[in-house]
Amino acid sequence: MDIGGLETVVANSAYVSARGSIDSAAAATMRDKKYRTKLNLPHIRQCEHMKTTVDSSFESMCVRQPIGKRLFQQYLESETAHKNSVDLWKDIEDYNVAQENDRAKKAQKMVNKYYESSSKNFCDFLGDKAVSRVKEDYRNIRGDLFKESEKQLLVQLEAKALNGFKDSMYFLRYIQFKWLEGQPVTEDWFMDFRVLGKGGFGEVHACQMKATGKMYANKKLNKKRLKKRKGYDGAIIEKRILAKVHSRFIVTLAYAFQTKTDLCLVMTIMNGGDLRYHMYNVDEKNPGFNENRACYYTAQIICGLEHLHQHRIVYRDLKPENVLLDDVGHVRLSDLGLAVELPPGKDKTQGYAGTPGFMAPELLQKKEYDYSVDYFTLGVTLYEMVAAKGPFRCRGEQVDNNEVTRRILNDPVSYPPTFSQELKELCDRLMEKDPEKRLGFKNNECAELKNQSFFKELNWGRLEAGMLPPPFVPDPKMVYAKDIDDVGAFSTIKGVVIDNKDSEFYNDFATGNVPIPWQEEMIETGVFGELNVWGQNGKLPNDLDP
Ligand code: ADP
Ligand code: MG
Ligand code: MG
Repeated sequence: MDIGGLETVVANSAYVSARGSIDSAAAATMRDKKYRTKLNLPHIRQCEHMKTTVDSSFESMCVRQPIGKRLFQQYLESETAHKNSVDLWKDIEDYNVAQENDRAKKAQKMVNKYYESSSKNFCDFLGDKAVSRVKEDYRNIRGDLFKESEKQLLVQLEAKALNGFKDSMYFLRYIQFKWLEGQPVTEDWFMDFRVLGKGGFGEVHACQMKATGKMYANKKLNKKRLKKRKGYDGAIIEKRILAKVHSRFIVTLAYAFQTKTDLCLVMTIMNGGDLRYHMYNVDEKNPGFNENRACYYTAQIICGLEHLHQHRIVYRDLKPENVLLDDVGHVRLSDLGLAVELPPGKDKTQGYAGTPGFMAPELLQKKEYDYSVDYFTLGVTLYEMVAAKGPFRCRGEQVDNNEVTRRILNDPVSYPPTFSQELKELCDRLMEKDPEKRLGFKNNECAELKNQSFFKELNWGRLEAGMLPPPFVPDPKMVYAKDIDDVGAFSTIKGVVIDNKDSEFYNDFATGNVPIPWQEEMIETGVFGELNVWGQNGKLPNDLDP
């Protein structure tokens, strides 16, 4: 074996073994003890001043932020007056993630306990609408059975428990965690593993957060290359959008920081490779997916698009290469560098952006456009998944971009004989040249699209809850990335000088921990539990002077 090949083998084995550790319960043993002990709650006096400035709106603190919610629930459990409410809340959460065959039984128990006025645990704050909804429908297994109840419950808790929580030691604990969350993060908190891919401004590496053992992908953007190639706007947009969206169908940003040479985006690691790789490089003699598999991925992509569009973000760069698989075979959208956010009150945007062969006619014609361009690219992507070639290109054909543009604007799509009628219909309605007629995002959702007959066998509720088993599971021992030698090096950048204005920009970019993913990481790796211990008499142990 040559030295390059050997390098890949060594790097792969380090990466595969680090990756394995996080799936098993052994994650804690992979932690770096020195960094783990650096992750410690401050004395309450050190952070008390944050009481008035910390994010303490009910919705954000008690519902959306995972640590805030845990502490709020612990407070509720400590107060007899709220015990019943928190039990209902937890039962609803439990129901929502339960397997379908367990749901009917769970719902029955909940009806008896909380919904019958004769029960001692009857929740009288649930309105008639919520009660009748559940009582009439609980035998049918559905994801949104308790939606109205949960809403009522949260209204009740905000009115009756929020103030008590803010006066309690649990709120002080929340502040301690928020202080810790706000601490700066630097490159030495992460251990780099092998390169996973190459981007326009730098490499993407697997990395491990030393203190918790959690694996991430670290996308590096070289400062000089960014400056030379005018990449600042794109970089800050990608960062802002990634930090804003929280969906299981889009990669999540957990940290943004800088080193001397790079800006770094630390994101969900997607170990399974991209869809392009799976279509063409796994079984070269038989490229593409069967319709069942394409249907599953398309459904997950739709959920990702719907989330982006609900946040007023146009993605613009959907293509198989940008859809990545995780360890279990779920997919997420990645590479939001070309995305744009529609400002409030503006429903259209402009600008030439995307990948040749995928871009929608209205965009190519330099007209104003909206979310509908993403459903055109969805049609192209779905077509390619099954046909193993783009709809506007023959297999192996070298064709220039002008010709591809001409075809997108003028030519109808023709389908291989293997395509089912349902698939053809869906592709046609997505690759509709008139954006007004195209299937897509209407009334803040994709309901019509999801109801197309191509998806008739698909259970959207289970898919959205992450409970629908994927059609293909990546091999945990396999590395779905190019050999290190084949990734390709960057040319050195000459003649770029970094000045004060650049540094200002880097500081704006390097905002450190992103609250929700950071809190999730603390909980899921057990660090939250280790730190959240109480002293005697339920006091904050840190109240006792060190
Ligand atoms: P660019 O915006 O410069 O094209 P990308 O975000 O596409 O950069 O990343 C470059 C490559 O790195 C991707 O094609 C993919 O192979 C790999 N990559 C990117 N993000 C991840 C991730 N979250 N997990 C695993 N690999 C990734
Ligand atoms: Mg890319
Ligand atoms: Mg990009």
